[in-house]
Amino acid sequence: MNWKRRKRTENRKTENGGSSLTDRELYQLAQQAKENAYAPYSAFRVGAALLCQSGRVFLGCNVENASYGLSNCAERTAIFSAVAAGERDFAVLAIAGDGEALVSPCGACRQVLCEFAPQLRVLIGCGENWLERTAAELLPDRFQLHGEAE
Ligand SMILES: [Zn+2]
Repeated sequence: MNWKRRKRTENRKTENGGSSLTDRELYQLAQQAKENAYAPYSAFRVGAALLCQSGRVFLGCNVENASYGLSNCAERTAIFSAVAAGERDFAVLAIAGDGEALVSPCGACRQVLCEFAPQLRVLIGCGENWLERTAAELLPDRFQLHGEAE
């Protein structure tokens, strides 16, 4: 993992036209959101905090179901909540999970992130640290209707 990238963004103020949140503060919100996770089947709790360009923050957690396929990830919960509230311009997404496990977005979430913001900064949690990627870096050659170019 490339921890050097984390060090550069630790105290970075987000570039969203007004928010004073640092990456660390956004990551802490993701850690808090994790506490609301409903994960009785996997016992793998995940939280997400999505900072919009407007400065608003939307939280998400994973919500599992006895019919496993109906479960929803923290990242998509946050994105869908933001879209439902009228937001579509996203700046940074922080993802946090339990323990020291790397909490990298699943393929479905990567596709959803790229739908709205290929250049979205994604802070992928691993314990108290994270690594940073863009959504596009996480999903190269993603599906695009009609094969639209970048
Ligand atoms: Zn996912």
